Amino acid sequence: MDYDVKKNLREVIATLPDNVRLVAISKYHPCEYLQAAYDEGQRIFGESHVQELERKVREMPADVQWHFIGHLQTNKVKYIAPYITMIEAVDSLKLMQEIQKQAAKHDRVIDILLELHIAEESTKYGLTLDACRSLLADGMWRDMPNVRICGLMMMASFTDYEAQIRREFTTAANFFDEIKSTYFADADHFCERSWGMSDDYPIAIECRSTMVRVGTRIFGPRVY
Ligand SMILES: *Cc1c(COP(=O)(O)O)cnc(C)c1O
Repeated sequence: MDYDVKKNLREVIATLPDNVRLVAISKYHPCEYLQAAYDEGQRIFGESHVQELERKVREMPADVQWHFIGHLQTNKVKYIAPYITMIEAVDSLKLMQEIQKQAAKHDRVIDILLELHIAEESTKYGLTLDACRSLLADGMWRDMPNVRICGLMMMASFTDYEAQIRREFTTAANFFDEIKSTYFADADHFCERSWGMSDDYPIAIECRSTMVRVGTRIFGPRVY
């Protein structure tokens, strides 16, 4: 192993406040690396490709909690529905409806986060704040007993300009408060703010992240 995964993991965890959880982003890394993190106590892992996730689920211990962090096509929900702990990047009603359908088949409740698009980069993925407001105002989600909306997820712009990153995280944190008070004031499970990656997670924590998604800093650069 080229990277001291255990040491890197310990260093990252040492910087996290008690109320912030770590999702170890293990996409493109071999199970040997995940196992090293597991042996050090890490249980939450994030993957972004269904095939790769399926392979790793078979190889890794059963008590790993898997988060799906990538863009999920509706036709692939059925593969991960039996075991996925959280689907982090939900950005359409159509995807929510499919998660509801597949979760019901397995008699499970699947936790999800709504993915926001706040960064300046043009990406197809994520809900604008207005689209997210409409999705919730529309109310269809209330008829999805097998889908539990646990909070929000987003990625900041890929930039060295710290003020911009901070502004984007702050926008997300303020939006969380709006959604929480409008729709989930009495729902304790709506509590997650998933932001912060290897290069910006300390800023994310200052901007009220509860869940950081860190890959490179633990496992080294990905080999695609
Ligand atoms: C790959 C990925 C990460 C981790 O990125 P690092 O820079 O390696 O920490 C976090 N979130 C999402 C959505 C990702 O796709």
